[in-house]
Amino acid sequence: MSACESASGGVNDDCRAALAQLEDLLDHALSEPDADLVRAHLESCEPCMEAADVEEHVRLLIRKACIERAPSTLRARIVTQVAMIRRG
Ligand SMILES: [Zn+2]
Repeated sequence: MSACESASGGVNDDCRAALAQLEDLLDHALSEPDADLVRAHLESCEPCMEAADVEEHVRLLIRKACIERAPSTLRARIVTQVAMIRRG
């Protein structure tokens, strides 16, 4: 995810691993030890925490709209909107 790359100037392996597991974390598809690792990273890494927050908001909005699988264009639009709202 680009948030991590732009903030740190490079792709960090920890960030890449955490973001790769973000979807599974939100789906509660991770085992507890793995989920703990990802959560620990999010708490110590602001760009990833923000990405997780945005992802969570997007999921809420999509669920609220009763969209089973949002088209990628719609999803991208929601991601952008949520990110903009969060930045004020
Ligand atoms: Zn990170």
